[in-house]
Amino acid sequence: MTSDAGGLRLAIVGGGISGISAAFYASRDSRFSAVRLFESSGRLGGVIETLHKGRYLIERAADNFATLIPDALKLSRDAGLEDMLVAPREHGRQAFVLHHGRVQPIPAGFSLMQPTRVWSVLTTPTLSLRGKARLLGEFFVRARHEQSDESLESFASRRLGREAYENLVEPIVSGIFTADPTTLSMQATMPQFLAMERKSGGLIRGHLAARRADAAAAARKASGARYDQFRAPELGMNAWLEQLAAKLPSGTVSLNSPVAELSLNSPGDRANDNQTSWNLRMSPDKSEDFDAVILATPAAVSSKLLQNVSAEAANFSSTIGYASSAVVAMVVNRSNVRGRLDGFGMIVPAKEQRDALAISFTSNKYSGRTPDEEVLLRVFLGGALRPEVMDRTDAQLEEIACREVREILKWDGRANWMGVIRWPEAMPQYTVGHCDRVAQLHTALRRLPRIAVCGAAYEGVGIPQCVRSGRQAVENVVGTRSVE
Ligand SMILES: Cc1cc2nc3c(=O)[nH]c(=O)nc-3n(C[C@H](O)[C@H](O)[C@H](O)COP(=O)(O)OP(=O)(O)OC[C@H]3O[C@@H](n4cnc5c(N)ncnc54)[C@H](O)[C@@H]3O)c2cc1C
Repeated sequence: MTSDAGGLRLAIVGGGISGISAAFYASRDSRFSAVRLFESSGRLGGVIETLHKGRYLIERAADNFATLIPDALKLSRDAGLEDMLVAPREHGRQAFVLHHGRVQPIPAGFSLMQPTRVWSVLTTPTLSLRGKARLLGEFFVRARHEQSDESLESFASRRLGREAYENLVEPIVSGIFTADPTTLSMQATMPQFLAMERKSGGLIRGHLAARRADAAAAARKASGARYDQFRAPELGMNAWLEQLAAKLPSGTVSLNSPVAELSLNSPGDRANDNQTSWNLRMSPDKSEDFDAVILATPAAVSSKLLQNVSAEAANFSSTIGYASSAVVAMVVNRSNVRGRLDGFGMIVPAKEQRDALAISFTSNKYSGRTPDEEVLLRVFLGGALRPEVMDRTDAQLEEIACREVREILKWDGRANWMGVIRWPEAMPQYTVGHCDRVAQLHTALRRLPRIAVCGAAYEGVGIPQCVRSGRQAVENVVGTRSVE
């Protein structure tokens, strides 16, 4: 069914940032005559949501996004919303790591897993002499040339040594992906470092090669200026989402509209594309037909919707697992904290055997989150390695978070505000082989007429990757790949 106007009628299922991005770009694309976005809940944004509690602004999930992958920034520009964005504050652009119970700075220039400054490695208290020597010895570690995927733990301990892996890489990665690094796919999560090993022979060699090519950019990346590569909406994520939604043509969004079933109205023969259409069933007595469909839902939901139309695609989607976590947000008086608060947050290695994965000093990063004399802390708990956290009551989680902040940051006093934010099955886990499975999923979908998937489950969990996947899905449903 192609509409009278000649363009395709497109349905997008799922109103998180991936679905919103797909709707934004499709609604400006003359190949589509109508774009509809179906969201099961009563609001757009999915996991992204801002809470306003009196004088406090608290992000339930993402509090900013990176710009090195430029797609979220580009979306903001394309929508005329770049003015809403601010960079992190200049003051306190550093992060800490817990080491033998003490809060220590992460060595300057240690970027995810790449050491870029010899002096900061030599002087860091977070590694023993032997650990430092092994880390700098990365320069001499032979490159692995096999193309097959490997786990992040395998890559990092092979290249940097066990100590640097346990003391620095593991907590950084656990904080970002709430994942188990022994099963996390290197190819899916840090392909830039795999490429560096293949091209330059290693991470230090890769940094030196980049510095030769562009000294200024490499130095910027290795210093605190990398915080410049982040942006947040000054008034919070909801304000940004609301403005994005306002750019969609009226009638695009249907809230409280869970899609329960997806089916093809006639056989999905590619040669007969013009005769096939998709039927979306919202409830027993409500369904609509479309020419093209984008599923921007979590993998388990997409898998269920695909079951009727491609068992193969449904199976690939169902293999993507999710981890649960909880965030305890708490606002405390700065004067009651004796530990270091002069940074953006801290990470906790598993070997420290504590409950917290990380503590973000959220209001230090962006202004307008709390009054200056208070600080908003977000204590991250759970993740793939500690799923039992979800069995605890809210009161127990608050108690755990208070204990962690007391002991780690030397806080005494009472929280001025506290809230528990639960994320059951919210963080996709890219296990070894993930990229191959996603490629097979896309191949299975290409055998069907005009259907694509996008979202955090597939090609990156960050907001920029989600935006990119939404835009790419718009290209995929019409059968041509994006040139950008
Ligand atoms: C605690 C936490 C902190 C994070 N911090 C950051 C950060 O600082 N920076 C960053 O870049 N990223 C961060 N992320 C990751 C990022 O926010 C997410 O990966 C991204 O927002 C996911 O967007 P999405 O649209 O793919 O999925 P979702 O947000 O999950 O959206 C999917 C939507 O589909 C809807 N839906 C489900 N089933 C149906 C159905 N049957 N019919 C219709 N609709 C349906 C859901 O209601 C939901 O709205 C964080 C994530 C978490 C959980």
